[in-house]
Amino acid sequence: MTDFSKLNITSALLGLKNKDFKSVELTEYFINQINKKENLNCFITKTFDKAIDMAKKSDEKIIKNRELGSLEGIPITMKDLFCTKDIRTTAGSKILDSFIPFYESTVSQNLWNSGAVLLGKTNMDEFAMGSANTTSFFGNVINPLKSKNNDKDLVPGGSSGGSASSVAAGLCLAATGSDTGGSIRQPASFCGLVGLKPTYGRCSRFGMVAFASSLDQAGPITLTVEDSARMLQSMVSYDSKDSTSSKKEIENLLDYKKSDLKGKRVGVPKEYLLDGLNPEIKKAWDLGISWFKSVGSEIIEISLPNTESALPTYYIIAPAEASANLARYDGIRYGFRAEEKSDLTRLYEETRAQGFGKEVKRRLMIGTYVLSAGYYDAYYLKALKVRKLISDDFSKAFERCDIILTPTTPNVAFPIGEKQTDPIEMYLNDVLTVPASLAGLPAISISACLNSDSLPIGLQIIGKPFEESSILSAASLIEDLRGF
Ligand code: GLN
Repeated sequence: MTDFSKLNITSALLGLKNKDFKSVELTEYFINQINKKENLNCFITKTFDKAIDMAKKSDEKIIKNRELGSLEGIPITMKDLFCTKDIRTTAGSKILDSFIPFYESTVSQNLWNSGAVLLGKTNMDEFAMGSANTTSFFGNVINPLKSKNNDKDLVPGGSSGGSASSVAAGLCLAATGSDTGGSIRQPASFCGLVGLKPTYGRCSRFGMVAFASSLDQAGPITLTVEDSARMLQSMVSYDSKDSTSSKKEIENLLDYKKSDLKGKRVGVPKEYLLDGLNPEIKKAWDLGISWFKSVGSEIIEISLPNTESALPTYYIIAPAEASANLARYDGIRYGFRAEEKSDLTRLYEETRAQGFGKEVKRRLMIGTYVLSAGYYDAYYLKALKVRKLISDDFSKAFERCDIILTPTTPNVAFPIGEKQTDPIEMYLNDVLTVPASLAGLPAISISACLNSDSLPIGLQIIGKPFEESSILSAASLIEDLRGF
């Protein structure tokens, strides 16, 4: 009998192919696990009937050995901002509580075409705004990992917290996330997983509930680097329905295994050595550097001089775009509508006042403010200029190195309820992930070691545009050498 709790995508594909078990059996196992770990609050909507149907179809194909997809029969979870046809899609918000899309996002469609099985839609920060999964209308998500020194429930990170927690708790084999400023990499880091944000334009944004359109990217959260390559390969496609989707052909991502890290130039940016960086995280970073040295990579100190402006720049551009994107939620066309019959303006106001949570309202106010006449030049336009400088910093750095190695976050997973009083404290979680987002670069987070509380510390590898293979290959070195 196969121990399902030990499987990842790669080993499950082998087991299915060898007929050691059926996709239906695997799916039933995960349904059972999901029911047992209800307390983690990973799901907004469960799709168990659909999952069994999809698994049965996969089993039929596997028996006939015909038309097999690259993820045939693999049960996964989907962040609840990918529109799924006829299945409720809420983006973690009351305002979309009853929204049932009549179309499918391109990324999810690609995954179904590959044979993946949908177990459910995962909880997330409202409209993907947050770093701890504490802004969801559907409640907090709990990280299945605990500090060995106390029993407090920890945050899974955000905004893809339900996705990360569902993978870490063994409720599925992989999950999709979305990353605007770190929402795949940071939860992956907090939950001890692999999270990959592709180059901007790699995955279609069609059918993803928009937060900040010039930054949003879909990507996988997985147990292993190989699984990350397999998921991403299926998710990527050129899509005429997204004008920013890239036509660049994607190589076979599993070829990352062939690449040699000897002689690779690994850039280490001095500006990422933040004042308040937790010493255990600095130690993990040094450990990572030593692993690259041990296989003959060249370590190069680089400078990304505008790093300190990245966070403020992000927190102008992302809210500005959000305020435009979320203008559509007016109670007329989508989801929730307030009981207000006096006049149309009052209806809009009441719907938005009752439908959006506190953090979303804060972002919408910031966004509206920085775009308003009189402040547009001083804030928004200036932020766009600084964004260009940040991007140029990376281009210059990449003349001297092939990949960049940094920590993913300045801290490890923290107890639920911490960092709630001052929003800036929460925003500081993203200080090491937003620069790559602003520059549209691919970046991956992988756990390198555990801290003294037994909590995972993630390292981030940032690559040149469209060089997802090269960050996968660097991450696999960490996976091989970390020894846990
Ligand atoms: N934590 C960041 C924010 O709150 C990033 C979110 C994301 O990547 N979706 O905006």
